Amino acid sequence: MLRAKAPRPPRTGRPRSVAVIGAGITGLTAARRLHEAGLPVTVLEAAQQVGGQLEAVQVAGHHLDVGAESVFTAAPGPLELIEELGLDDDLVAAQRATTWIRTRRGLRPLPAGFTPAGPSRLLPVLRSGVLSPLGMLRAGLEPLMPATDTDRDVAVGVELQRRFGREVTDRLVDPLLGGLHAGDVRTLSLSAATPQLAALLARHRSLLLRRRPPSRTGPAFVTLEQGMGAITRALAEQLPSDALRCSTPVEQIRRVDGRLVVETAGGSELAVDGIVLATPARVAARLLAGPSPDAAEVLGTLRTASVAVVGLAYPAAAAEVPAIREGTGLLVPSTLPGLLKAATFLSTKWPHHRHEDVTLIRVSAGRAGDERAMHLDDDTLVDQLHAELSLATGLTLAPQAAVVRRWPHTMPQLEVGHQRRLAAARTALERDLPGVALAGAPYAGPGLSACLRSAAEAATHLMTTRPEAIR
Ligand SMILES: Cc1cc2nc3c(=O)[nH]c(=O)nc-3n(C[C@H](O)[C@H](O)[C@H](O)COP(=O)(O)OP(=O)(O)OC[C@H]3O[C@@H](n4cnc5c(N)ncnc54)[C@H](O)[C@@H]3O)c2cc1C
Repeated sequence: MLRAKAPRPPRTGRPRSVAVIGAGITGLTAARRLHEAGLPVTVLEAAQQVGGQLEAVQVAGHHLDVGAESVFTAAPGPLELIEELGLDDDLVAAQRATTWIRTRRGLRPLPAGFTPAGPSRLLPVLRSGVLSPLGMLRAGLEPLMPATDTDRDVAVGVELQRRFGREVTDRLVDPLLGGLHAGDVRTLSLSAATPQLAALLARHRSLLLRRRPPSRTGPAFVTLEQGMGAITRALAEQLPSDALRCSTPVEQIRRVDGRLVVETAGGSELAVDGIVLATPARVAARLLAGPSPDAAEVLGTLRTASVAVVGLAYPAAAAEVPAIREGTGLLVPSTLPGLLKAATFLSTKWPHHRHEDVTLIRVSAGRAGDERAMHLDDDTLVDQLHAELSLATGLTLAPQAAVVRRWPHTMPQLEVGHQRRLAAARTALERDLPGVALAGAPYAGPGLSACLRSAAEAATHLMTTRPEAIR
């Protein structure tokens, strides 16, 4: 068993201790970095197990991720962590196949070169059949549009609409990027939600005319055969055995005699010199309401979306339906009626999900402002999502088993002004409770790469905060 690297002695003469609140991937990674730096660290987790949004369930005897499902290999961080944890032998590459976009005229392929950073090649967009002739013409005018003013925070969908036209935003950006964030691309911030795209637009006058780097070789997406929760399990196992306390919800944070006191639901207290708050923002807001009301107020305004994931096991013959055989999944624009937001054809996409007895499909529903999937009972939700999937793909078989996992108020909405709001919360926190760092998806965005970056930043912040500053 690999352990986190042996701790180095603390850089200051005085030992410090840190509590990490929340044992999702962010909290556990921050704890690993702090432990490596020689700081005694205690991780407090409300649930009985670690992992947060990295969670799997059993459907028809097969495990299936119902939270994060894959790693986007172009984004830095997750692959390196997987290797560091000794999990690289467990990596599985996604099959290259079509991702479908649902349109009013049936399924169309997501054009090659269309990534969360917008379209980078015109020809595949034109050939995809997703746009009308007028929409294609408008998209082709992008090089003539004035450069993006990246000093101003704008909504990513609004800016891409200004560059490529409304159809590109409605029919491609909305299902892809809006689907990933379960959000409205006309409110999500270009700089906060899509920093790579913002960086491209700052460097290039036109996305279509820019000289593209050579295409990356290797798979675009990977996962772990045991499920993504293997990452958080390994992170937890590689911490010192007394560093982790599950079933320990934190109820209060106080400052007492220059130290930070963390009080848990059981009434026990832990005095520390630093805290990484890696919980959902609404929990952080509650914990900070007393000691840093200004920070708490800002965190309370950060919007989230609720999503539901349903794992469906169909008879094996479902894999022969052409749309399912030839595609890894489908995305549905928010402009189309219905509940279905996206589907992943797991048995086509991942080799380890190809089973003789069943075809596994994962479907999801729920976006910012649309809570319908939270209120339907499980049977109705499954029936409705199955019906919409059947209509979209031509599937005529009924599922043999289904599992529903709801994620209420989970997907962060990094809306225009996010970075300003976050800076205000951090300034208030620095004034009221120095030594407390915010980390995780609510602040950095939902991708695992962003979570890991935020964990590293929080750990570095605490390592460079003098304990005296806490007084
Ligand atoms: C359905 C779904 C699909 C996704 N798919 C992908 C994907 O394919 N790829 C990708 O990169 N990302 C994906 N994401 C996003 C990604 O999973 C998350 O952004 C990431 O896991 C968040 O990690 P975190 O540690 O910041 O937060 P969380 O995982 O939410 O962890 C927070 C932890 O804090 C704990 N906690 C809460 N309150 C308290 C308290 N009072 N005291 C102590 N502990 C507390 C919680 O129990 C939880 O364990 C997906 C998310 C969802 C919901």
